[in-house]
Amino acid sequence: MPTPPSLPAGSDAAHALGEFIDASPSPFHACAEAAERLEAAGFRALDERAPWPTGRGRHYVVRGGSLVAWATGEQHRPDSGFRIVGAHTDSPNLRIKPQPDLASAGFAQLAVEVYGGALLNSWLDRDLGLSGRVLVRGADGPEARLLLVAEPIARVPQLAIHLDREVTAKGLLLNPQQHLRPVWAVGAAPAGGFRGYVADLLDVAADDVLAWDLMLHDLTPSAVVGADASLLSAPRLDNLCSSWAAVEALAAIAGPDRAAGTDLIPVVVLFDHEEIGSSSDRGADSAMLPTLLERIVHGLGGGRDELHRALAGSSCFSADNAHATHPSYPERHDPGHLIAVNAGPVLKVNSNVRYATDAASAAAFFAAVEQAGVPHQVYSHRNDMPCGSTIGPITATRLGIPTFDVGVAQLAMHSARELCGAEDPAHYTASMAAFLAPEA
Ligand code: ZN
Repeated sequence: MPTPPSLPAGSDAAHALGEFIDASPSPFHACAEAAERLEAAGFRALDERAPWPTGRGRHYVVRGGSLVAWATGEQHRPDSGFRIVGAHTDSPNLRIKPQPDLASAGFAQLAVEVYGGALLNSWLDRDLGLSGRVLVRGADGPEARLLLVAEPIARVPQLAIHLDREVTAKGLLLNPQQHLRPVWAVGAAPAGGFRGYVADLLDVAADDVLAWDLMLHDLTPSAVVGADASLLSAPRLDNLCSSWAAVEALAAIAGPDRAAGTDLIPVVVLFDHEEIGSSSDRGADSAMLPTLLERIVHGLGGGRDELHRALAGSSCFSADNAHATHPSYPERHDPGHLIAVNAGPVLKVNSNVRYATDAASAAAFFAAVEQAGVPHQVYSHRNDMPCGSTIGPITATRLGIPTFDVGVAQLAMHSARELCGAEDPAHYTASMAAFLAPEA
């Protein structure tokens, strides 16, 4: 299958990815951006509380910071297997505590909590904006509102070297309780404190602000960098790179101008909460995906038996970024499995199943990259260092389906600012499109 014409190619893909990332500072915004892209491709939102339409169509569901999208056509039966591309919408960051107003030495500061495994130093000396979801009192009960402040309202200043003479020799040690409090005003905080500030932005009374899931983000726009324009510098590449690619791939193979020809049902799932273990109402370890797959089968007229037959013929492409070999620390990598940027998607293999890949599921990945005509690489972690994990093993466990883990090679994973190859997003999207719509 040639690359579908609607897939962004080359560095156009990197620019499109950068725009998606810049518009998606929180998982809630990532879902809103993904939904907009899906709507443009003819997908329609479904409400989980409502009865669903029977029959075929292109649909998606948003649950908080998670999203599931799928497309069914006339060729699909109730026991048709699923081709699932999974990714995650969340990234490590600093989140606003419930009682955030602090004051010290004439500054108003915000109390924050570290979300996930953030590289704390990367949050210093950056101009920070604010984003996320706020629950406000509405006429018919609590209402969720998206909030985005794309202005530099906060900053975590590093201690001057003159007051920390050993920092260069001994390294920077940050206490997450003491040293990460952003400064956000001089003297008193804005009237009404943080709650009053949020209420003003949403044009509601402070008492009507019930609760929030708000977080800080670096405001520097994503950029294609390097003298040869070969790299993409951006926040949240882990894992909005995969979220963006998955949505682009699904829109390309199932959009209105392209009837999906395969009898496998293409599904994209973007999970929240991967960075903190996936255990939540909408994480990879939740009942969300199994429940929605069951409802898709019901919509096609099937029952439990058809669901289990469908799962027996299903497989999952678990998409989460991989480590490129760091040029200044090559000894941290397995010398037999060095990974380059702009050399294609990286299949991640770990026999202790920190990654879900096995020989059989790897074969499905190789078929996808061959069909897409893109290069690929294979990663194995050093034996003497603990290996990270991702949604792949969790999804395989929840659904009992063959799964492989793949990602774009990147540097600086979990920094507030990450780096990947500018050519790889296009390779990645093409490999996902081929997996979602395999040639017979
Ligand atoms: Zn990740």
